[in-house]
Amino acid sequence: MSTLLRAEGIHKSFGERAVLRGVDVDLARHQVVALIGASGSGKSTLLRCLNLLEPIDDGQIFLDDEDISDPRVDANRVRARFGAVFQSYNLFPHLSVLDNVTLASRVVHRMPRREAEARAFDLLERIGLAGLARQHPDRLSGGQQQRAAIVRAIATDPEVLLLDEITSALDPELVGEVLELVRRLADDGATILMATHEMAFARDVADRVVFLDAGTIVEQGPPAEVLVAPREPRTRAFLARFT
Ligand code: ADP
Ligand code: MG
Repeated sequence: MSTLLRAEGIHKSFGERAVLRGVDVDLARHQVVALIGASGSGKSTLLRCLNLLEPIDDGQIFLDDEDISDPRVDANRVRARFGAVFQSYNLFPHLSVLDNVTLASRVVHRMPRREAEARAFDLLERIGLAGLARQHPDRLSGGQQQRAAIVRAIATDPEVLLLDEITSALDPELVGEVLELVRRLADDGATILMATHEMAFARDVADRVVFLDAGTIVEQGPPAEVLVAPREPRTRAFLARFT
């Protein structure tokens, strides 16, 4: 399998606080990697560093063998190769669902509106949201909003999808529909790095699970090993909270 995204020796501090302390992580094309760890362990920071939303203090990040952590790199061009969805407030409240989904295609990728909208309708149709395309996000349920946010993230055909606890803010009955969409994307061959507390989903869908604790990767491997028979005491202690 060819490596698409590779980070080596990532260090990141906020003031005195070292949040990432030498993180190595990689992601092969079409792979789904679940990033697990307690709140505050550095998951979101890592994801934000990978798509250059946050500058790193040390280390290197390669996307398709290009060193994207090189300061001379055009960060906007690199970010356009990622799709990202966060816990909440993903959609612009003042834009319709359709405009949310087409914005990056039109503005960043300079796709003609007609073409961007046709593609957006097609994507929204597939998840049953085409009928809500002209609505503003506040007319959608939390689950519909997150699904629309995922569609917005994939509308530009990103090479890597970064998903940061995208179901954590949802009512429990809405979690399933969002995870189902992620599962479909994974089945269709998307390359996904997702921070999640959904252990059953990670076990089912992820090719690899990475356990982050206090800014270092303590253990990683196939879900059947890391989630079912973890080797490290810290992984065991973390997982015990979910049973
Ligand atoms: P996680 O996503 O695993 O919960 P985060 O990456 O959000 O962890 O946070 C890791 C640590 O970094 C936390 O202690 C958090 O308070 C701190 N942190 C995150 N972002 C910032 C920031 N912009 N400024 C200062 N501290 C931050
Ligand atoms: Mg987080």
